[in-house]
Amino acid sequence: MIIVLEQHIADEKKAHIRDFLETRGYQVREIIGEVETVFGAVGTPGIDIREVELLDGVSKVVPITRPYKLASRELKREDTVVSIGPVKIGGNRIAVIAGPCAIESRDQIFATAEAVSKAGAVMLRGGAYKPRTSPYSFQGLGEEGLRFMREAGDAYNIPITTEVVSPNHVDIMTRYIDAFQVGARNMQNFELLKEVGATGFPVILKRGLAATIEEWLMAAEYLMAHGTDNVVLCERGIRTFETYTRNTLDLSAIPVVQKLSHLPIIVDPSHGTGLRGKVLPMGLAAVAAGANGLMVEVHTNPDQALSDGPQSLFPEQFEKLMRDIEAMTPVLGKSMEHLPKKQHEIILTSGKTTGQYRAAFQGVHGAYSEEALRAYFPDEFEAVPCRSFRDVFEAVMTGEVKYGIIPVENSLAGVIHENLDLLMRYPGTRVIGEREIRIIHSLIALPGTGVSQVKRVYSHPQGLAQCEAFLDTLPGVERIPFFDTAGAVAHLSKLQDFESAAIAGEVAAEYYHMEVLKEGIETNPKNYTRFYVISREEVAEVEAKGRKVSRVIMVFSTPDEPGALFKCLRILAENGLNMKKLESRPILGKPWEYMFFVETEVPNQQSCSKALEELREASDNFRVLGTIPAR
Ligand code: PEP
Ligand code: MN
Repeated sequence: MIIVLEQHIADEKKAHIRDFLETRGYQVREIIGEVETVFGAVGTPGIDIREVELLDGVSKVVPITRPYKLASRELKREDTVVSIGPVKIGGNRIAVIAGPCAIESRDQIFATAEAVSKAGAVMLRGGAYKPRTSPYSFQGLGEEGLRFMREAGDAYNIPITTEVVSPNHVDIMTRYIDAFQVGARNMQNFELLKEVGATGFPVILKRGLAATIEEWLMAAEYLMAHGTDNVVLCERGIRTFETYTRNTLDLSAIPVVQKLSHLPIIVDPSHGTGLRGKVLPMGLAAVAAGANGLMVEVHTNPDQALSDGPQSLFPEQFEKLMRDIEAMTPVLGKSMEHLPKKQHEIILTSGKTTGQYRAAFQGVHGAYSEEALRAYFPDEFEAVPCRSFRDVFEAVMTGEVKYGIIPVENSLAGVIHENLDLLMRYPGTRVIGEREIRIIHSLIALPGTGVSQVKRVYSHPQGLAQCEAFLDTLPGVERIPFFDTAGAVAHLSKLQDFESAAIAGEVAAEYYHMEVLKEGIETNPKNYTRFYVISREEVAEVEAKGRKVSRVIMVFSTPDEPGALFKCLRILAENGLNMKKLESRPILGKPWEYMFFVETEVPNQQSCSKALEELREASDNFRVLGTIPAR
């Protein structure tokens, strides 16, 4: 049964409810959702649920009707996102696991680790204990294989998963691996499931060769009932009468499972088809059908592979698969999961940001974005310039930097739509703060240049437009558009051009040792730009703990029917949420369909939770993009 707890329930009451259930023989799991906290109580003590309903602090009790309880969506409505080291599987990410069928040698697993991580895989797979149909086939390198794989994982900074075939191996495997894989042949090996579940390690659970979806979810239930919450389901094809393919890849299992369970589901098109040439189309089909990722066999020399060579991709084929998936992501509203390049950058710090980190901005040094960054972060922060806004998101997602800062709106020029779109395209990022700066344009030149000497003025077209009245006072001076305001200053400094000036912020003058000829030359002094500070989701989660929120940023689409958006906005009004911004953005790949981007003030936590819950129901593809803390 599901016990929904009252909001803001005191710890003692919670402990009392847990105690009540446990002493009657229930196993209790606490599930903290975005809007409510529930206890999932599983077991068969058979008490009258009214007894539980009467307990202090219980809001309501709902029986779970499915045979699988912990794995069921009835218990947990939100998608589970499984963490394996720095990698997350679930939600709107697409995570690809790749590697050979079997670990054959140290060199082989190192070479494969290099190839697949370069192509964008976020986990390395490979069997050390191989469950082969014939006892005369290669059985795997055993513990030696585990050691090789661990070394390769560490060398390329990529988490590893490998199959467990016996309860006797469980202990020793925990010393080497990041996640267990339970193979198709062992899906119903319940003693194995119990042992593996009890380690608490993440598990990738393959679907059995002849297992129904319900049997598969019951196997997941075994793992969860024995102690792990992190189960990733993996569809790998089932036995049918068809013989052209090794198995029949059941892609319809994806939407079926997603309705029944909150657990992520990935697909293995390698075992699903048994044929290298079929892996690409079926891998893409799986992603299109909504899979949270793929597990693919890749070998640096498939023709020499000791097992499953015919279904293993050449590294070049794997690269193509990754590129094709990436191209599909905007249509699906998802993004590729990335491996952080430098793990130390995403080490979580609770509370205040400290100085030893880096933050990315778009532009060259001296840009207004860098000014905003300097205003937001402590002095010791290193500001990392990026070529494009997309590169800022990439730097955050790969962990090259802990934070990024992106402009979202200028008081004169309006919204910077590209950045709203990127926020939607990178679901692994969150807005965690904001900063507004006044844009003060200055005329900047090499020291010694007088205003009367200036023949040309360089700046971003917007910089030139915003200083039109001032430029009109300089007759005969040519206005030359440049890609970037601070970039124009850097350009003049490099050329040592004494006949030109640039329009940019004062910080740029300082940075390139140039002189400000005139400050505040913008026509309209009410020129402000607002920036969002972004981080990876897990950093945002830690920083949000215990912090009061002043605004929520969210995005959703609506059903195509009269009044659909109106119904959503009414929810905000009825809960007293003051909307500050509403933008509609086209959905890539779906002409004439839109996502609505909303920023709203929140009066208090309770009405915010209630409104978000109602909005989630009333809209489609609802997502919180971030929150802005109260000052
Ligand atoms: C494997 O992943 O190498 C494997 C043996 O898969 P399955 O259990 O799906 O057959
Ligand atoms: Mn295999």
